[in-house]
Amino acid sequence: MTDRIRNSTTNQPHHTNEPPVQIKARKTRQEYTRRGLLGEGGFAKCYAVVDLKENLYAAKVVWKESLSKNPKNKPKLLSEIKIHKLMDHPNIVRFHEAFEDDAFVYLILEHCPNKTLLEMNKFRKRLTEPEVRFFLCQILDACRYMHRASVIHRDLKLANLLLSEDMKVKIGDFGLATQLQDASERKKTICGTPNYIAPEVLFDKTGHSYEVDIWSVGVIVYTLLFGKPPFQTKGNVEDIYRKIKEHKYDFPSNISVSSDAKDLINYMLTQQPASAQHRPSAKPFLLQRLHANKTTNVCTTNKTGFRSNTDS
Ligand code: ADP
Repeated sequence: MTDRIRNSTTNQPHHTNEPPVQIKARKTRQEYTRRGLLGEGGFAKCYAVVDLKENLYAAKVVWKESLSKNPKNKPKLLSEIKIHKLMDHPNIVRFHEAFEDDAFVYLILEHCPNKTLLEMNKFRKRLTEPEVRFFLCQILDACRYMHRASVIHRDLKLANLLLSEDMKVKIGDFGLATQLQDASERKKTICGTPNYIAPEVLFDKTGHSYEVDIWSVGVIVYTLLFGKPPFQTKGNVEDIYRKIKEHKYDFPSNISVSSDAKDLINYMLTQQPASAQHRPSAKPFLLQRLHANKTTNVCTTNKTGFRSNTDS
């Protein structure tokens, strides 16, 4: 169904980039009713939708006209759908179905009602170590799953870590993800978000692989604990890239963070992805290190934001 409205002055139909209120998937015959806007990304709008049984989902809606602006957009969206569809993990946004009508492509996804870790970090400024450990275990578990399925996410950042009803992390947005054909394949596309990009993506002409996700997780942990990304500058993107190249970051002395946490960040932010002293992978060993002598915390929300039950 095309979503056209009549122009009140000319009475000519024209396209709008607002999807219809009633959305129908032709093949599966599922019907959804559109509710409020959840958020907007680079080329999609995300709405809450309900099916006929009142089950709630998030519908990521892409306007086809915006896809035609760049010939790379369509294959990118098809790749996002193909890879996201493969994912089946409790810490990855569940993919229900994808379909299209004349004007839009719809991705029906698990609804994550508690926004993202970006909003939480802005609201709280800094999270405690038990809270960060709670999230980190889930993020690494999902990374381990993705990497085993030969998938590199390539855009792990706070804005792509959504939060479920019970405050579990759900990795979303597979728009930059790629699936390797074999373990030795190296990817050469420069992509990601400046603050989170691993040095080899920017500077290694031989390409990059799974390790880029672990670098981004290191940036995420630093940002959650210190309230700002490690390579952030007041300057432009080139300044961020220079700091990444020179491996220039430090731990603010006025913020009390344990040496264990700093060691872990340093480890994940190892400059060389694979060398004698290489960046860790999301294998059980890294997870074990996190669990060692520490319980994983059960976390709850309250009116002032997120608190873990071991947080004083
Ligand atoms: P884009 O690929 O265009 O960047 P995103 O996938 O990042 O789009 O989605 C845009 C915004 O929509 C997100 O920042 C988030 O606020 C919201 N959003 C995306 N997916 C969900 C979801 N599953 N549940 C709730 N909100 C979502």
